[in-house]
Amino acid sequence: MFPDRSITIAINNAILIVAVKNLFDTEGVPGFVKALVILIESLLIKSGVDCPHCGKDKHHLHSKSDRKLKTSIGEVNLVLTRLLCLSCKKTFNPMAQLFDLDKYSRKSSSLQGFLDLVRETTSSYPACPDWEWPHV
Ligand SMILES: [Zn+2]
Repeated sequence: MFPDRSITIAINNAILIVAVKNLFDTEGVPGFVKALVILIESLLIKSGVDCPHCGKDKHHLHSKSDRKLKTSIGEVNLVLTRLLCLSCKKTFNPMAQLFDLDKYSRKSSSLQGFLDLVRETTSSYPACPDWEWPHV
């Protein structure tokens, strides 16, 4: 007997929640962001990415590389995947495209914007403490 699919998903989610909590405890927010970026990258690659050089969507894993980025929450060490296009044989990095990174960038305004959005949507405190309702 195989377990019901919804039970499997529930177990996987529970494992993920525990893993994220452990990550938070040991590595803090930058570790969490790193894991989040790995998750987004795998979803992005699974959903299909087009080669920026020729536009085809058939590719193989080429390599993984570390990239340290400076953000408002501290240094985030991202692990980025490089894909090899099977059509034109050139390599590309889907997350670097998404985060608007060139080869040597140490900052990403897109990643920073994403972090600001996460903070705004998850924080129970106002994003700007000095802000007040305008007096009419
Ligand atoms: Zn290509």
